[in-house]
Amino acid sequence: MTLRCFEGAVAIVTGGASGIGRALAEEMAARGARVVLADLQVELAEEVASGIRSRGGQAAAATLDVTDFAAVEALVHRTVEEHGRLDYMFNNAGIAIGGEVHLYQAEDWDRVLDVCLRGVTHGVQAAYPVMIKQGYGHIVNTASMAGLAPMPMAASYCAAKHGVVALSGVLRMEAASFGVRVSVLCPGSVRTPILDDGGKYGEMLADIPRDVQLESWEQTRPMDPKEFARRTLRAVARNRAVIIVPGWWRILWWIHRLSPSLFMVLWRRIYLWQKRQWGI
Ligand code: NAD
Repeated sequence: MTLRCFEGAVAIVTGGASGIGRALAEEMAARGARVVLADLQVELAEEVASGIRSRGGQAAAATLDVTDFAAVEALVHRTVEEHGRLDYMFNNAGIAIGGEVHLYQAEDWDRVLDVCLRGVTHGVQAAYPVMIKQGYGHIVNTASMAGLAPMPMAASYCAAKHGVVALSGVLRMEAASFGVRVSVLCPGSVRTPILDDGGKYGEMLADIPRDVQLESWEQTRPMDPKEFARRTLRAVARNRAVIIVPGWWRILWWIHRLSPSLFMVLWRRIYLWQKRQWGI
Protein backbone atom coordinates (compact mmCIF):
# COMPACT_ATOMS: atom_id res chain seq x y z
CA MET A 1 0.00 0.00 0.00
CA THR A 2 1.23 3.50 -0.76
CA LEU A 3 0.34 7.11 -0.14
CA ARG A 4 -2.75 8.23 -2.06
CA CYS A 5 -2.66 11.58 -3.84
CA PHE A 6 -5.44 12.53 -3.07
CA GLU A 7 -8.25 10.21 -4.31
CA GLY A 8 -9.14 7.70 -1.59
CA ALA A 9 -6.69 9.20 0.91
CA VAL A 10 -7.54 9.66 4.58
CA ALA A 11 -6.54 12.97 6.16
CA ILE A 12 -6.82 14.60 9.57
CA VAL A 13 -6.73 18.40 9.56
CA THR A 14 -6.35 20.10 12.95
CA GLY A 15 -7.83 23.58 13.05
CA GLY A 16 -10.07 22.32 10.25
CA ALA A 17 -13.08 24.45 11.22
CA SER A 18 -11.72 27.73 9.92
CA GLY A 19 -9.36 29.52 7.55
CA ILE A 20 -6.47 27.54 6.12
CA GLY A 21 -7.47 24.22 7.74
CA ARG A 22 -10.98 24.53 6.41
CA ALA A 23 -9.76 25.36 2.89
CA LEU A 24 -7.25 22.48 2.91
CA ALA A 25 -9.95 20.05 4.07
CA GLU A 26 -12.44 21.26 1.44
CA GLU A 27 -9.85 21.04 -1.33
CA MET A 28 -8.71 17.57 -0.21
CA ALA A 29 -12.33 16.36 -0.13
CA ALA A 30 -13.00 17.84 -3.58
CA ARG A 31 -10.13 15.68 -4.82
CA GLY A 32 -11.63 12.51 -3.36
CA ALA A 33 -10.02 12.33 0.09
CA ARG A 34 -11.88 11.41 3.29
CA VAL A 35 -11.21 14.21 5.75
CA VAL A 36 -11.54 14.59 9.51
CA LEU A 37 -11.86 18.21 10.59
CA ALA A 38 -10.56 18.34 14.15
CA ASP A 39 -11.04 21.56 16.07
CA LEU A 40 -11.96 23.15 19.39
CA GLN A 41 -14.77 24.88 17.48
CA VAL A 42 -16.58 21.61 16.80
CA GLU A 43 -19.90 23.15 15.76
CA LEU A 44 -18.16 25.17 13.09
CA ALA A 45 -16.20 22.06 12.04
CA GLU A 46 -19.49 20.14 11.73
CA GLU A 47 -20.92 22.93 9.54
CA VAL A 48 -17.90 22.72 7.23
CA ALA A 49 -18.05 18.90 7.17
CA SER A 50 -21.74 18.91 6.36
CA GLY A 51 -21.09 21.41 3.54
CA ILE A 52 -18.48 19.02 2.12
CA ARG A 53 -20.89 16.06 2.39
CA SER A 54 -23.65 18.04 0.66
CA ARG A 55 -21.28 18.47 -2.30
CA GLY A 56 -20.70 14.70 -2.45
CA GLY A 57 -17.46 14.62 -0.45
CA GLN A 58 -16.59 12.55 2.61
CA ALA A 59 -15.96 14.48 5.81
CA ALA A 60 -16.49 14.21 9.55
CA ALA A 61 -15.96 16.67 12.38
CA ALA A 62 -14.24 15.87 15.69
CA THR A 63 -13.76 17.85 18.87
CA LEU A 64 -10.07 18.25 19.53
CA ASP A 65 -7.82 20.32 21.72
CA VAL A 66 -4.35 19.88 20.23
CA THR A 67 -2.76 20.76 23.57
CA ASP A 68 -4.08 17.43 24.92
CA PHE A 69 -1.80 14.65 23.64
CA ALA A 70 -4.07 11.80 24.77
CA ALA A 71 -6.94 13.34 22.78
CA VAL A 72 -4.82 13.74 19.64
CA GLU A 73 -3.59 10.15 19.92
CA ALA A 74 -7.14 8.85 20.48
CA LEU A 75 -8.36 10.72 17.38
CA VAL A 76 -5.58 9.27 15.22
CA HIS A 77 -6.33 5.73 16.44
CA ARG A 78 -10.09 6.16 15.93
CA THR A 79 -9.51 7.43 12.40
CA VAL A 80 -7.24 4.50 11.50
CA GLU A 81 -9.69 2.00 13.02
CA GLU A 82 -12.54 3.49 11.03
CA HIS A 83 -10.81 4.01 7.68
CA GLY A 84 -7.99 1.46 7.84
CA ARG A 85 -5.27 4.01 7.03
CA LEU A 86 -3.93 7.53 7.58
CA ASP A 87 -2.36 9.22 4.57
CA TYR A 88 -2.09 12.83 5.73
CA MET A 89 -1.76 14.52 9.10
CA PHE A 90 -2.09 18.29 8.78
CA ASN A 91 -0.90 19.76 12.10
CA ASN A 92 -2.40 23.13 11.42
CA ALA A 93 -4.29 24.51 14.45
CA GLY A 94 -2.84 27.80 15.63
CA ILE A 95 -3.37 31.03 17.51
CA ALA A 96 -1.41 34.26 17.64
CA ILE A 97 -0.72 36.70 20.44
CA GLY A 98 0.41 40.07 19.10
CA GLY A 99 2.34 42.77 20.92
CA GLU A 100 5.80 43.52 22.21
CA VAL A 101 7.33 41.23 24.84
CA HIS A 102 7.19 43.88 27.59
CA LEU A 103 3.38 43.59 27.40
CA TYR A 104 3.43 39.80 28.00
CA GLN A 105 2.47 37.84 31.07
CA ALA A 106 4.41 34.60 31.53
CA GLU A 107 1.29 32.60 30.57
CA ASP A 108 1.08 34.30 27.17
CA TRP A 109 4.17 32.35 26.10
CA ASP A 110 2.53 29.11 27.26
CA ARG A 111 -0.70 29.77 25.39
CA VAL A 112 1.06 30.18 22.05
CA LEU A 113 3.72 27.51 22.58
CA ASP A 114 1.10 25.01 23.76
CA VAL A 115 -1.06 25.33 20.63
CA CYS A 116 1.42 26.25 17.91
CA LEU A 117 4.42 24.13 18.95
CA ARG A 118 3.20 21.40 21.32
CA GLY A 119 0.04 21.00 19.24
CA VAL A 120 2.34 20.05 16.35
CA THR A 121 4.57 17.74 18.41
CA HIS A 122 1.42 16.02 19.68
CA GLY A 123 0.21 15.48 16.12
CA VAL A 124 3.61 14.12 15.14
CA GLN A 125 3.87 11.78 18.15
CA ALA A 126 0.39 10.45 17.44
CA ALA A 127 0.56 10.02 13.66
CA TYR A 128 4.22 9.14 13.04
CA PRO A 129 4.20 5.66 14.67
CA VAL A 130 1.06 4.77 12.68
CA MET A 131 2.68 5.96 9.45
CA ILE A 132 5.93 4.10 10.19
CA LYS A 133 3.88 0.92 10.67
CA GLN A 134 2.05 1.54 7.39
CA GLY A 135 5.28 2.37 5.56
CA TYR A 136 3.77 5.54 4.12
CA GLY A 137 2.16 8.82 5.13
CA HIS A 138 2.70 12.55 4.85
CA ILE A 139 2.90 14.91 7.83
CA VAL A 140 2.31 18.56 6.91
CA ASN A 141 3.07 20.98 9.74
CA THR A 142 1.81 24.54 9.47
CA ALA A 143 4.45 27.05 10.54
CA SER A 144 4.58 30.57 9.07
CA MET A 145 6.95 33.07 7.48
CA ALA A 146 7.41 33.96 11.16
CA GLY A 147 9.07 30.53 11.43
CA LEU A 148 11.70 31.52 8.88
CA ALA A 149 12.63 35.00 10.11
CA PRO A 150 12.16 37.05 13.30
CA MET A 151 9.28 39.50 13.31
CA PRO A 152 8.62 42.15 16.00
CA MET A 153 5.29 42.08 17.85
CA ALA A 154 5.17 38.30 17.48
CA ALA A 155 7.90 36.85 19.72
CA SER A 156 6.00 33.86 21.09
CA TYR A 157 4.52 33.10 17.68
CA CYS A 158 7.97 33.35 16.03
CA ALA A 159 9.49 31.11 18.70
CA ALA A 160 6.80 28.46 18.22
CA LYS A 161 6.90 28.61 14.42
CA HIS A 162 10.73 28.49 14.27
CA GLY A 163 10.40 25.35 16.40
CA VAL A 164 7.93 23.88 13.92
CA VAL A 165 10.26 24.59 10.99
CA ALA A 166 13.20 23.04 12.84
CA LEU A 167 11.40 19.88 13.97
CA SER A 168 9.90 19.39 10.52
CA GLY A 169 13.34 19.55 8.87
CA VAL A 170 14.80 17.02 11.30
CA LEU A 171 11.79 14.73 10.97
CA ARG A 172 11.85 14.91 7.18
CA MET A 173 15.41 13.59 7.10
CA GLU A 174 14.68 10.82 9.62
CA ALA A 175 11.25 9.83 8.28
CA ALA A 176 12.40 9.22 4.71
CA SER A 177 13.92 5.90 5.87
CA PHE A 178 10.41 4.75 6.86
CA GLY A 179 8.71 5.92 3.66
CA VAL A 180 7.09 8.83 5.52
CA ARG A 181 7.07 12.33 4.04
CA VAL A 182 7.27 15.55 6.05
CA SER A 183 6.68 19.10 4.83
CA VAL A 184 6.46 22.41 6.58
CA LEU A 185 3.93 24.92 5.35
CA CYS A 186 4.91 28.58 5.73
CA PRO A 187 2.00 30.84 4.81
CA GLY A 188 2.71 34.51 4.17
CA SER A 189 -0.59 36.28 4.64
CA VAL A 190 -3.92 34.53 4.06
CA ARG A 191 -7.37 36.05 4.61
CA THR A 192 -8.51 34.12 7.71
CA PRO A 193 -9.82 34.97 11.21
CA ILE A 194 -6.29 34.77 12.67
CA LEU A 195 -5.57 38.18 11.13
CA ASP A 196 -8.32 39.55 13.39
CA ASP A 197 -6.85 39.67 16.94
CA GLY A 198 -5.01 36.34 16.53
CA GLY A 199 -8.09 34.21 15.81
CA LYS A 200 -10.86 32.95 18.09
CA TYR A 201 -8.42 31.97 20.86
CA GLY A 202 -5.69 34.55 20.22
CA GLU A 203 -5.23 38.12 21.39
CA MET A 204 -3.66 41.46 20.53
CA LEU A 205 -1.94 42.86 23.63
CA ALA A 206 -1.00 46.21 22.09
CA ASP A 207 -3.57 48.97 22.12
CA ILE A 208 -4.23 49.09 18.37
CA PRO A 209 -7.81 49.60 17.16
CA ARG A 210 -9.16 46.54 15.36
CA ASP A 211 -9.87 48.39 12.11
CA VAL A 212 -6.30 49.74 12.07
CA GLN A 213 -4.91 46.20 12.58
CA LEU A 214 -7.07 44.84 9.77
CA GLU A 215 -6.08 47.72 7.49
CA SER A 216 -2.41 46.89 8.11
CA TRP A 217 -3.01 43.27 7.14
CA GLU A 218 -4.73 44.46 3.96
CA GLN A 219 -1.45 46.12 2.98
CA THR A 220 0.14 42.64 2.88
CA ARG A 221 -2.48 41.56 0.30
CA PRO A 222 -3.82 38.44 2.07
CA MET A 223 -4.45 35.52 -0.26
CA ASP A 224 -7.87 33.90 -0.59
CA PRO A 225 -7.78 30.61 1.41
CA LYS A 226 -9.16 28.53 -1.51
CA GLU A 227 -6.38 29.65 -3.83
CA PHE A 228 -3.92 29.16 -0.98
CA ALA A 229 -5.12 25.57 -0.48
CA ARG A 230 -4.87 24.76 -4.20
CA ARG A 231 -1.27 26.00 -4.37
CA THR A 232 -0.37 24.26 -1.12
CA LEU A 233 -1.74 20.88 -2.21
CA ARG A 234 0.19 21.15 -5.48
CA ALA A 235 3.38 21.53 -3.43
CA VAL A 236 2.32 18.74 -1.02
CA ALA A 237 1.81 16.39 -3.97
CA ARG A 238 5.35 17.26 -5.11
CA ASN A 239 6.61 16.52 -1.58
CA ARG A 240 8.24 19.93 -1.17
CA ALA A 241 10.20 20.31 2.08
CA VAL A 242 9.34 23.98 2.72
CA ILE A 243 6.15 25.29 1.20
CA ILE A 244 5.89 29.09 1.03
CA VAL A 245 2.58 30.48 -0.24
CA PRO A 246 2.04 33.15 -1.57
CA GLY A 247 5.36 32.63 -3.36
CA TRP A 248 6.51 36.27 -3.26
CA TRP A 249 7.07 35.95 0.52
CA ARG A 250 10.16 33.88 -0.39
CA ILE A 251 11.94 37.18 -1.00
CA LEU A 252 11.90 37.81 2.77
CA TRP A 253 13.33 34.36 3.42
CA TRP A 254 16.09 34.92 0.88
CA ILE A 255 17.03 38.28 2.41
CA HIS A 256 17.13 36.71 5.85
CA ARG A 257 19.30 33.80 4.65
CA LEU A 258 21.60 36.18 2.78
CA SER A 259 22.12 38.40 5.80
CA PRO A 260 20.19 38.05 9.08
CA SER A 261 21.69 41.39 10.22
CA LEU A 262 20.52 43.23 7.10
CA PHE A 263 17.08 41.65 7.48
CA MET A 264 16.80 42.89 11.08
CA VAL A 265 17.91 46.43 10.16
CA LEU A 266 15.30 46.60 7.35
CA TRP A 267 12.51 44.95 9.32
CA ARG A 268 13.12 47.17 12.38
CA ARG A 269 12.61 50.22 10.16
CA ILE A 270 9.30 48.82 8.91
CA TYR A 271 8.28 48.01 12.49
CA LEU A 272 9.09 51.52 13.77
CA TRP A 273 7.20 53.02 10.83
CA GLN A 274 4.23 50.76 11.62
CA LYS A 275 4.26 51.78 15.27
CA ARG A 276 4.00 55.41 14.20
CA GLN A 277 1.04 54.55 11.94
CA TRP A 278 -0.65 52.68 14.80
CA GLY A 279 0.05 55.47 17.28
CA ILE A 280 1.67 53.17 19.87
P1 NAD B 1 -7.91 30.48 11.91
O1 NAD B 1 -8.05 31.22 13.18
O2 NAD B 1 -8.89 30.69 10.83
O3 NAD B 1 -7.83 28.91 12.19
C1 NAD B 1 -7.18 28.37 13.30
C2 NAD B 1 -8.02 27.21 13.79
O4 NAD B 1 -7.32 26.57 14.86
C3 NAD B 1 -9.39 27.66 14.35
O5 NAD B 1 -10.42 26.92 13.75
C4 NAD B 1 -9.28 27.38 15.83
O6 NAD B 1 -10.51 27.01 16.43
C5 NAD B 1 -8.29 26.22 15.84
N1 NAD B 1 -7.64 26.06 17.14
C6 NAD B 1 -7.07 27.01 17.91
N2 NAD B 1 -6.60 26.46 19.05
C7 NAD B 1 -6.89 25.13 18.98
C8 NAD B 1 -6.65 24.03 19.84
N3 NAD B 1 -6.05 24.19 21.03
N4 NAD B 1 -7.05 22.79 19.45
C9 NAD B 1 -7.69 22.63 18.26
N5 NAD B 1 -7.95 23.63 17.40
C10 NAD B 1 -7.56 24.87 17.76
O7 NAD B 1 -6.44 30.83 11.38
P2 NAD B 1 -5.63 30.27 10.11
O8 NAD B 1 -5.01 31.43 9.49
O9 NAD B 1 -6.44 29.35 9.30
O10 NAD B 1 -4.49 29.47 10.87
C11 NAD B 1 -4.12 28.15 10.52
C12 NAD B 1 -2.63 28.01 10.70
O11 NAD B 1 -1.95 28.82 9.75
C13 NAD B 1 -2.13 28.44 12.07
O12 NAD B 1 -1.16 27.53 12.53
C14 NAD B 1 -1.50 29.80 11.80
O13 NAD B 1 -0.50 30.10 12.72
C15 NAD B 1 -0.94 29.57 10.41
N6 NAD B 1 -0.67 30.79 9.66
C16 NAD B 1 -1.68 31.59 9.18
C17 NAD B 1 -1.35 32.74 8.47
C18 NAD B 1 -2.40 33.65 7.89
O14 NAD B 1 -2.06 34.66 7.28
N7 NAD B 1 -3.69 33.33 7.99
C19 NAD B 1 -0.02 33.08 8.25
C20 NAD B 1 0.97 32.26 8.77
C21 NAD B 1 0.64 31.11 9.45
